[in-house]
Amino acid sequence: MQKVNFLQHINNLMSLYKQPFLEPYKGRGTRHTCPNCKVKQTFTLYLDGNTCQPIHPTVGKCNREIKCGYHYPPREYFADHPELWKNGSREYKPQSNNIPIRRQSANRRPGKHYNTKLHSSLAVPPKMDLIPRKYVKESVSANSNFVRFLCKHFPRENVKKAIENYALGATKNGSVIFWQIDIKGNVRTGKIMQYNPDTGKRIKHKSGAINWVHNILKRRVPNYTNYNLNQCYFGEHLLKFYPNKPIAIVEAEKTAVIASMIYSNYNWLAAGNLNGLNTEKSKVLRDKHVILFPDAGCYEKWSRKAVQLKSVMKQQIKVSDLVEKHAIFEQRENGYDIADYIIEEIR
Ligand SMILES: [Zn+2]
Repeated sequence: MQKVNFLQHINNLMSLYKQPFLEPYKGRGTRHTCPNCKVKQTFTLYLDGNTCQPIHPTVGKCNREIKCGYHYPPREYFADHPELWKNGSREYKPQSNNIPIRRQSANRRPGKHYNTKLHSSLAVPPKMDLIPRKYVKESVSANSNFVRFLCKHFPRENVKKAIENYALGATKNGSVIFWQIDIKGNVRTGKIMQYNPDTGKRIKHKSGAINWVHNILKRRVPNYTNYNLNQCYFGEHLLKFYPNKPIAIVEAEKTAVIASMIYSNYNWLAAGNLNGLNTEKSKVLRDKHVILFPDAGCYEKWSRKAVQLKSVMKQQIKVSDLVEKHAIFEQRENGYDIADYIIEEIR
């Protein structure tokens, strides 16, 4: 049996894989309807470098760069759909709403010798690691500055309910732990954040970095050194508790908790950051009614994201412009959100 070394193996894969490219203009038939602005003949599709076939009807670029700005590059699409990666080659599983194309498997060709063991170790996604549930139980507490802030504005009963629903934790120094618990009750990680108990504003770490539970475990516990993090929406576990409630998604965990106390007829989830909305995480939302509540200044970006999310959704997804319309310029600069809106109304 012929041995193939690592470098040779990578080179083989590289030479077989050709980068996707934007379809060159060859008449009107090569420009399509934009999935975002719906304008005809403005959308350029990305084609697979090997098969010269479209990657997906939503993967491309709108020519109306200023007015629409929709751009869904293949890199992002494949990151959103890891299930399309099979054996390290980008091979499609047939999907009903996809253009029916099969990519050529780049690595299985007769006459080529590959170290399959090495190959599978490179290609198969490693298993997802989890955090023991007892850590969540032990951490749940009202002794965080975030909860102190909530108590200044909301009835104690509502705050108590929010702590229970989201399993809000607290560290010794009064930081809050926003646990990411998925629909099956698995604990993916926890985000540790400090707040000013009076203003409710975040107190950032000197470095500006966010502290995560899995990162602390990585540093302290040998078993966690290679922790493979797979994030879910903050609040995802509520889908199991309240399966009939529609879903509202905001950017920040703080916003989700505050909004849940006022509009309790929704399951409020948080994306974690502006880029935290993606199709992979949204698969659990498939049958749900979903409304996105972007922060001020992010309406356009989340509207474009909503178009992508539709590819994994059965139900409608709407984007609220409540905050966008309400925010004055200064607030827009500061990322005003629905929680600010609620607290303003209460005052
Ligand atoms: Zn467009």
